Amino acid sequence: MDVVQIMSKELLKGAKMLGEHCEKCGTPLFEKDGEVYCPICKIKGNEKKTEYISKLNEGNRQEEILEDKINYLLERLKDENEVSRIIEIGKALEILLRVKELIEK
Ligand SMILES: [Zn+2]
Repeated sequence: MDVVQIMSKELLKGAKMLGEHCEKCGTPLFEKDGEVYCPICKIKGNEKKTEYISKLNEGNRQEEILEDKINYLLERLKDENEVSRIIEIGKALEILLRVKELIEK
């Protein structure tokens, strides 16, 4: 989307174009509901936020968590002598390993 498109979109939303310009990018500032903003920087700010969130959700992070848990369970398993607990841990491990496999694909 180019600047003109973004600005006309703001105008259509009922925003008012002001005589002042954005310090960062020089785009005319807009005002709506008492809020003065730069439509370009606003969009860029939002993009950064969603980018950050999607980074957090990326496979790497999930894999890290899974590996942590798998290691924890393996440690527990090592010291566990009660059959029912071993089965429980084994089941949990199986689930985690399956999820890990799904993520890695
Ligand atoms: Zn700006």
